[in-house]
Amino acid sequence: MSRIGIFGGTFDPIHVGHLVVAVWVRAELELDRVELVVANEPWQKLDRPPLSSAQDRLAMVKAAVDGIDGVAASSVEIDRGGLTYTVDTLEAFRAENPNGSLFLVLGSDAAGGLDTWHRHEEIAEMAELVVVDRPGAIGQRPSVAHRVVDCPLLDLSSTSVREWADAGRPLDGLVPAAALVYCRHKGLYG
Ligand code: ATP
Ligand code: MG
Repeated sequence: MSRIGIFGGTFDPIHVGHLVVAVWVRAELELDRVELVVANEPWQKLDRPPLSSAQDRLAMVKAAVDGIDGVAASSVEIDRGGLTYTVDTLEAFRAENPNGSLFLVLGSDAAGGLDTWHRHEEIAEMAELVVVDRPGAIGQRPSVAHRVVDCPLLDLSSTSVREWADAGRPLDGLVPAAALVYCRHKGLYG
């Protein structure tokens, strides 16, 4: 019976904070794999759409996870197209792994807002919720059953990466090297 972590995000761009969460949660919960699921059109961000295209964000995530044991990039939300709802993603993973267990991994900022998500009651039934703290949102928790995994706290967000890029700051060490090669090749983020 496979144990699969689902870690969704916009990944605009992916940063080392994302990778550390994926790797630590996988180890702590003994998951077979953690899927970094790249959002197509995040409904929460309609007023500030991603800077990079879904295909570019997916390519960066793929590059970043290459060689990391048990961590993979998923295009399921991009393949589905349209607005991205996590409940649809969980249904897709459940259909593919009817006997598996799903673990939905959420940073605490996302976890604190879970009650506002589309069909959130079903989300909590389909997957075990796993919360990791994040600077700026420490202690924010969903109102439903969940578990907390302790990870190193990295005060890093894609928003700050984009701002640093705009300001001409170096992104080495913040964005995984292979993803950065892709960014430079495509001229993304300054
Ligand atoms: P943005 O600033 O564009 O919103 P982000 O850094 O928050 O980007 P997302 O793609 O929005 O990244 O987040 C995907 C998931 O990763 C969310 O569950 C979020 O809480 C979590 N996450 C992002 N950065 C961190 C971090 N530094 N530590 C822990 N969790 C994080
Ligand atoms: Mg975010």
